[in-house]
Amino acid sequence: MADKRDYYEVLGLGRNASADEIKKAYRNLARKYHPDVNKEPDAEQKFKEVKEAYDVLSDDQKRARYDQYGHEDPMAGFGGGGAADFGGGFGDIFDMFFGGGGRRDPNAPQRGNDLQYTMTIEFKEAVFGKETDITIPRTETCDTCHGSGAKPGTRIENCSVCRGTGQQEVAQNTPFGRIVNRRTCSACGGRGKIIRERCTTCSGSGQVKRNRKIHVKIPAGVDDGSQLRISGEGESGLRGGPPGDLYLVLRVKPHDFFERDGDDIYCEVPLTFTQAALGDEIEIPTLTEKVKLKIPSGTQTGTYFRLKGKGVPKLRGYGQGDQHVKVTVVTPTQLTEEQKELLREFAAKSGESTNEQHQTLFERMKKAILGDG
Ligand SMILES: [Zn+2]
Ligand SMILES: [Zn+2]
Repeated sequence: MADKRDYYEVLGLGRNASADEIKKAYRNLARKYHPDVNKEPDAEQKFKEVKEAYDVLSDDQKRARYDQYGHEDPMAGFGGGGAADFGGGFGDIFDMFFGGGGRRDPNAPQRGNDLQYTMTIEFKEAVFGKETDITIPRTETCDTCHGSGAKPGTRIENCSVCRGTGQQEVAQNTPFGRIVNRRTCSACGGRGKIIRERCTTCSGSGQVKRNRKIHVKIPAGVDDGSQLRISGEGESGLRGGPPGDLYLVLRVKPHDFFERDGDDIYCEVPLTFTQAALGDEIEIPTLTEKVKLKIPSGTQTGTYFRLKGKGVPKLRGYGQGDQHVKVTVVTPTQLTEEQKELLREFAAKSGESTNEQHQTLFERMKKAILGDG
C-alpha cells in the first residue's frame, strides 16, 4: 500500500477541502472514470481509487485518522473506530476492494456512449419545425471484424494470465488476515481475451470513427435550449451492447420583428399620432400571414393588443399561443408650417379634452411647479 496516491491528490483537493468540495470532486471524477462510460484500460482502476479516497475523506472519523496516519494507518478502511465498528466497516471493505457492486464481467455487453450535438436553427424553423440531415462524427462498430478487434479468420484466445476473467488477484496480508485484491489484468487490459492478429481496419479496438449522416425531424414549437433525444443514434455499444442516444440541443436565432416568450409571440408596431387619436385599422404581420387589427380611437402608447391563436404551436399538447402587439405612438417630426399651425389650433381648442388619467398627471405637475404639493 506504500505506493498508493494521497487521497487528497486523487480527488485533486487541498487538505482543508470542505465536505461539499469533496463530494463535488468525487461526483465529477466518478462520472469521468466510471467503467461504463470510460473505455480507457485503466479507468476502472482509477474509478476504484477515487471511490476509495471518497469513502475515507467523506467520513469525518476516517478522514481524521487518515490526516493523522496517512496510508500507514493499520485501521484504514475498517471504519477507523476499532473493533466495535467492524460490523459497520465490513461494507466498506467490500466496497473498497471489490468496487461495491462486485466485479464486472469483462465480456459483458456495454452500452455505447450518448452524444450531444448543438444545432442552430432559424426563428421560424423553431416555430414550424424542420426536417434536415446532420453529420456527426461518432464511434461505430468496425464492419471488418464486427467489433471483435481480430483480423477476420484469426483466432481470439482467452487470456492465460487471468483465464479470461480480465481480473488478476493480488493477495495482501493485513492485521485481519489475508485479503485478496482484484485488479484489472495487465496482460489483456481487462478484456479477458488476447488477440493474436489485430484487425487492420480498427487496429484491434473493434471500433472506428466515422462521420454519420442522420436525418432529424425537429417538431414545431421547439425553443432555444430545447433538447431532442434521438434514440439509438449515439455511439455503438461494445460486445453487442446497445448504442447510446444522440441528444440534439437547439439554439434558435433571434428574429428582427418577432420576439418569443414560451408559446407567445411579442411584437411592437408604430402608430402615428393621428392613428392613435382617431383610431384606424392596420395590418399586422403574424408568423403565417398578415391580419387586420382595429385600433380604437384614443389608444395610448404602450397599449397591448392580443391576436388569439397567432403564437407558436404548443410542443406538447394542442393549440397555439397568442401574439401580443404593443403599439408605440410616434411623435411627428419635421412638420411643415401649415401642419404646425393646425396643431397650434388643435392645442388651443383641446384645452380640457385630455382624458382623466392625463389630467391628473398635468395637475400634479402644475402643483409641483408652484411648489404647493
Ligand atoms: Zn476491426
Ligand atoms: Zn488477462
